[in-house]
Amino acid sequence: MAIDDPAGQPLTAPYLLQYPYRRSLGPVLGRFFTALRGRQILGARTLDGRVLVPPLEYDPETGDDIDDLVPVSARGTVTTWAWVAQPRPLHPLQRPFAFALIRLDGADTAMLHAVDALHPEAMTTGMRVRARWSDAPVGHITDLACFEPEDRVGDKDRVGDDDRVAAEPDPALLDLKPVTSMTTPLSLDYTVTAGYDLTAFLRGIARKTILGRECPACQKVYVPARGTCPTCSVPTGAAVEVAHAGTITTFCVVNIPFEGQQLTPPYVCASVLLDGADIPIFHLVGGGPVEAVHMGMRVRAVWVPDEALAPTMESIRYFEPSGEPDAPFDSYKEHL
Ligand SMILES: [Zn+2]
Repeated sequence: MAIDDPAGQPLTAPYLLQYPYRRSLGPVLGRFFTALRGRQILGARTLDGRVLVPPLEYDPETGDDIDDLVPVSARGTVTTWAWVAQPRPLHPLQRPFAFALIRLDGADTAMLHAVDALHPEAMTTGMRVRARWSDAPVGHITDLACFEPEDRVGDKDRVGDDDRVAAEPDPALLDLKPVTSMTTPLSLDYTVTAGYDLTAFLRGIARKTILGRECPACQKVYVPARGTCPTCSVPTGAAVEVAHAGTITTFCVVNIPFEGQQLTPPYVCASVLLDGADIPIFHLVGGGPVEAVHMGMRVRAVWVPDEALAPTMESIRYFEPSGEPDAPFDSYKEHL
């Protein structure tokens, strides 16, 4: 597709944002999750006697600290619900189910969880449900595998729960190793559409060509190429090719490891003002010691082998020092 070919279809790509979110639990939620591992559900009792499930560290009405945790039943009543016809991969059940607010017996607030009803007609507001515990509790909300309609359960001992609720947490919970942190998988996957201008830019990259577009009013060259000038609000002109070499305007040294990191720290990310462009692009700097990177340093693109070229910025592996003298500050001070 040529850059000015409006009939060409934009590129699309799958995009997955995913990481495990680890959080410390603190004293109240820590006890709640420790109890879940012991197959008991605790609520937070406020000074005026209300019981909040899941527990909160502070009374939302008065702001008082809460440290009084009391058991509640593993049975409860659905107060509202929504049917999930097509479960997502990280949902608690991999067949159609209901997300419901469930007020457990002994609690004054409702908690969100899944109800394993076989079809939406089996769900009603006010229906009675009971917990189904995980076979291998670990101190996570998934220890409560789900809830299920009580009228579908013939054997009341199935969940190891009876109708009596103890006044105090089970002393056996004290023997369990306290749960102090929890990991929750976060995952967001969707399809990114590049749009016509970015598509043309990326197809240029696959040809080892870096394209920008110039604003006819202010003469700024935007890289990656974009269809309008955000300053002048006018359409940009025809595509122009910019150089593969440029000047580092700003940079940062990444010293901190993080989940999913592609490179081993330390490494440098920098804004590179390519010759002929007015907007820097953000990319990696390699090919030399991290300590040598500085503002005004001249660099050039290091491309992947021709057979590996693709419409992605990864076609440029990184920018390396070109050995030219530093650019004077005045030459890029308007482009920081
Ligand atoms: Zn402009």
